[in-house]
Amino acid sequence: MQTVEELREEFAKLKAQVASNDAKLKRAQRRELRLLKAQDLPTLFAELTSGLCQDAGLQNASLVLADPDHDLRHLLLAAGTPAEEMEALIVVDALTGLAPQYVALQRPWLGPYRRCDHELVFAREAAELGSVAMIPLHNCGRLVGSINLGSADPGRFTPDHATDFLAHLGAIAATCIENVANRARLLRSGFTDALTGWHNRRYLKLRLNEELARVKQDGCNLVCMMLDVDYFKSVNDTWGHVAGDAVLKEVANRIESEVRATDVAARYGGEEFIVLLPDTATRDARQLAERIRSAVAGTPIDLPGGASTVVTASIGVAEIRPDADLNDLKSTGESLVARADVALYAAKSRGRDRVVVADAA
Ligand code: GH3
Ligand code: MG
Ligand code: MG
Repeated sequence: MQTVEELREEFAKLKAQVASNDAKLKRAQRRELRLLKAQDLPTLFAELTSGLCQDAGLQNASLVLADPDHDLRHLLLAAGTPAEEMEALIVVDALTGLAPQYVALQRPWLGPYRRCDHELVFAREAAELGSVAMIPLHNCGRLVGSINLGSADPGRFTPDHATDFLAHLGAIAATCIENVANRARLLRSGFTDALTGWHNRRYLKLRLNEELARVKQDGCNLVCMMLDVDYFKSVNDTWGHVAGDAVLKEVANRIESEVRATDVAARYGGEEFIVLLPDTATRDARQLAERIRSAVAGTPIDLPGGASTVVTASIGVAEIRPDADLNDLKSTGESLVARADVALYAAKSRGRDRVVVADAA
């Protein structure tokens, strides 16, 4: 028989347990709410790593994601935060080989930290860890990654701990990642021109800023090339808008086949295209512009319905040197494009189908 004193003690313990569970539940709910509120991948990834780390008083947390077609990496890049710049994020082509647990990670795995097994799933040095929780992330039944929590306390994550909380967190996290990635894909489609599949003016403005920041940082130049199809209105007038569209697509193809992968090409407006050429001597830029000009005018363009037509293009080229005033990137970018536009206008007034390079600023 228990004494009243013993019963009291037991009751107090139970009460404390209930209070602690309640606090845990509230913390988990707050955490979930923060995950659900994250609108972009960098914010969500930070919540899932440093956020969890702080919240749960852990020493380390990381997020491993499989990205076989580099889709996530491109989305992060477009958001201005390359994957490699995110401290606790590890994006890989495949999970195999990173940790033995990935062979069968259906439920959260809890156990002792072993350097040889877990080193690669933590982005930061994790030597001081005592125990680890690897929470699987599934998408349509496929394992796509894991949230990895590391504690210095060897007793914090052990195989006999309940894992329901962590499994639930994994399910929420996987859904959030998918939703936010979809949102980023949609946003990105706002940077794409529907006709040519090229990037549009909005994207160009963003990239121009980035490229100018690089001029400032790396001390190399940036060339801006602006191309406008000559007498394009008369293509529309003669052959109709559908034929005009076909001409624009083909002009874009011909420009694309001449530029390098590191160049930034965009449809700037109706029949105007811009190519940014990082780290390119003006002489090389002029040669490239000449090649593009001949590629556009060199062979007739097939039109829907069997006819074909020849179009020409005028090109203006302007350059920003690293010694230019780069304090206000926005206005420097605007003046670079404006100078290319003035050179383009000069090419038009000198008879079209030609390249004009602006004098150095
Ligand atoms: P210039 O040699 O001076 O550049 O003469 P232009 O006729 O090319 O220039 P203008 O600016 O007068 O005409 C451009 C035309 O391009 C007018 C516009 O209707 C047409 N245009 C703009 N976007 C599209 C498009 O997406 N498809 C088609 N088919 N036409 C377009
Ligand atoms: Mg025009
Ligand atoms: Mg034109």
